Amino acid sequence: MSLTVVGSIAYDAVKTPAGERERMLGGAATHFALAASFFAEVRPVGPVGDDFDEDSWRILRTRGTVTDDVEHVEGGKTFFWKGEYSANLNQRETHITDLNVFETFSPKLSQASRDADVLFLANIQPDLQLNVREQCTRARFVAMDSMDLWINIAHDSLRKVIGTVDCLILNDEELELLTEKPTTLQAAQEILSWGPKAVVAKLGKYGAALYTADGFFALPAFPLHHVTDPTGAGDTFAGGFVGYVAAHPDEEIGHELLARAMAYGTALASYNVEEFGTDRVERLTADEIQSRVADLSRMTAFTVDPVALRT
Ligand code: AMP
Repeated sequence: MSLTVVGSIAYDAVKTPAGERERMLGGAATHFALAASFFAEVRPVGPVGDDFDEDSWRILRTRGTVTDDVEHVEGGKTFFWKGEYSANLNQRETHITDLNVFETFSPKLSQASRDADVLFLANIQPDLQLNVREQCTRARFVAMDSMDLWINIAHDSLRKVIGTVDCLILNDEELELLTEKPTTLQAAQEILSWGPKAVVAKLGKYGAALYTADGFFALPAFPLHHVTDPTGAGDTFAGGFVGYVAAHPDEEIGHELLARAMAYGTALASYNVEEFGTDRVERLTADEIQSRVADLSRMTAFTVDPVALRT
C-alpha cells in the first residue's frame, strides 16, 4: 500500500496565545505526511526552494516518507505562510501567503507516486490538485481538502476536482460557503450529489463529523488542558484518517471503516496541537496513538437507558 499526497511544503511563522515562532517547517503536505507515515509509505509531491534546509528534509522523511517527488527548484524560495490565532484559538488571521515556488509548479509524478493505492489532495490551487488526480489513475480512494481562498477565487476549478474524488474534507463554514447552504447537513448532502461518497466536516476545537449515504457519525476533539498551536491540525487529522484507509487495503471503504478512521485522525490531530509546528508528531509513538484512540472510544460510548418517560 502506498499513499501519495500533493500540497504545500512550507515555512510557517505563527503567533498563538502560547507564544510565537518566526520560521518553522510547515505546509499541508508536511503535516499530512508526518501523520500518515504511521500507516503507510507516503510520497509527498511538491516544490521547495534553495532555503529548504537539511533539518527540514530529515523531518519530512520521518518514518520512511519518500521524498523523490519533492522537487528542489534551483533559485526558488519555499512557500511561506504567516498566521495569527485569536485568544480562543478558533479564529485564525492570515498575514502573509507567499506561494513562491508553487506559482510556476507543474507536478511531474514518478511512476511509484502515480501508482498510489490512496491519494490525498491537500490544500493547494485546485488546478494542481486536478493535475495530480488525473495522473493517479489506479487509486482506490482519493480524498481532498481545500480552503475559503479557493472557494472564493477558483470556484469552478474546485467544483471540477470535487467531482473526481471519493471524499471531501473541509471546515463546516467552508462547506456552507461552497454550497451556499445554511446548515452543514444540507451542505454535505449537496456535495454527496456532486460525486464524493463521503464528506468530513472539520469543526475546529469541537471535533469532526462524517456524512455518507449510510448516515452520520461524529467525534468530539480529544479534551486537552493546553493547546499550543492549532496549525496543521486539519492536515494531521487527514493524515490519520486517510492513512487508516490506506492501512486497510482489503476492506470495503464504507461508512463503518471511515468512522474508525475518524478516531485515528482525531487522536493524531490532538497530539499535533500540543506543541508548535511538527514538534509533537515528529516524536509521537504508535503506543501513544493507540492509547488516545482507546480513550476516545471510552469517552464517546454510552448505553441507552429505557427509563419510563412521562407523557
Ligand atoms: P491547517 O492548519 O490544517 O489549515 O494547515 C496549515 C498549513 O497550511 C500551514 O502549515 C501552511 O503552511 C499551509 N497553508 C496556509 N495557507 C495555505 C495556502 N493558501 N495554500 C496551501 N497551504 C497553505
